[in-house]
Amino acid sequence: MDAINKTTVKVPEVPLTRLETLWMQVGGTLCNLQCTHCFISCGPQNYNHEMMTLAQVREYLEESKGLGVKDYYITGGEVFINPEIFEILEAILEYGPLDALTNGTLITKEKAQRLKEIQSRSAHRLQFRVSMESFDEEENNKIRGKDTYRKAVEGIRHLSEAGLSPILTITRNWDEANDAEMEKKFLDFLKANDVPEPRIKVLPGFLLGRLAENIRNYDEDEHVTEKCFESYDITNLQCATSRMATGKGVYVCPILVEHDEARMGTTIKDTLHSFPLAHSACYTCRVTGMTCKS
Ligand code: SF4
Ligand code: SF4
Repeated sequence: MDAINKTTVKVPEVPLTRLETLWMQVGGTLCNLQCTHCFISCGPQNYNHEMMTLAQVREYLEESKGLGVKDYYITGGEVFINPEIFEILEAILEYGPLDALTNGTLITKEKAQRLKEIQSRSAHRLQFRVSMESFDEEENNKIRGKDTYRKAVEGIRHLSEAGLSPILTITRNWDEANDAEMEKKFLDFLKANDVPEPRIKVLPGFLLGRLAENIRNYDEDEHVTEKCFESYDITNLQCATSRMATGKGVYVCPILVEHDEARMGTTIKDTLHSFPLAHSACYTCRVTGMTCKS
């Protein structure tokens, strides 16, 4: 199904109130894993977005300086397959605090030590978010692939030993009524793996990419309308305060990077205006009140 709202109902526009956060897709759509629920369909062969080069990252950083950006996020794909990842981390930390999203499976002891050194040289905070599916090895590997549980746990332990206590990110695959019980189980899992500051981030599933192929697509009526924002401030949406830079231009948000209509321009300045919420994914943002930020 085409997830774009083509009805005659007026599509609400989200204003950009200020540019607070700049995301960069430094891993492109390339990933060492191929999770069954990936809403961008990332994997070892998805070259839709190439990895960003250090030079591209520097260009966006320089542009962001004059625009009031307060913090930076990097994602992919998997950021640690980028051959310039350490230089990219150092470059971003010259400009502000950074959250790096990773699946954790490539973080060796040596890499974690190098990350610790990078953090010690910067006045800005470097934080990692490691994504997993479950505290149960079999459940996790069913979605993320063979051996991913063991490798991600090792990555989490290496980061913790290096003093970089990571945040565990999970896509909600349980009923909301069980939130408290599941959150406790994930926090206990982190404590059992010696994470000094156990924290989790639960994200909703977006019915895009492989998740849509494996679960379902958005229904015809899953769109936002102006009525959806009568009792909800539209500027609470993350696209009111952030943009997503990639190797092929700047997109409205990290969720819609595989959707041409979400590409707003070549430079950040091209994108400093409102955006029509015509995609069904916007419905998930509205219903859950989610943000990709930590
Ligand atoms: S969900 Fe994350 S780890 Fe899994 S394939 Fe997608 S980008 Fe890679
Ligand atoms: S998917 Fe969410 S963050 Fe992206 S444009 Fe729609 S409402 Fe904004």
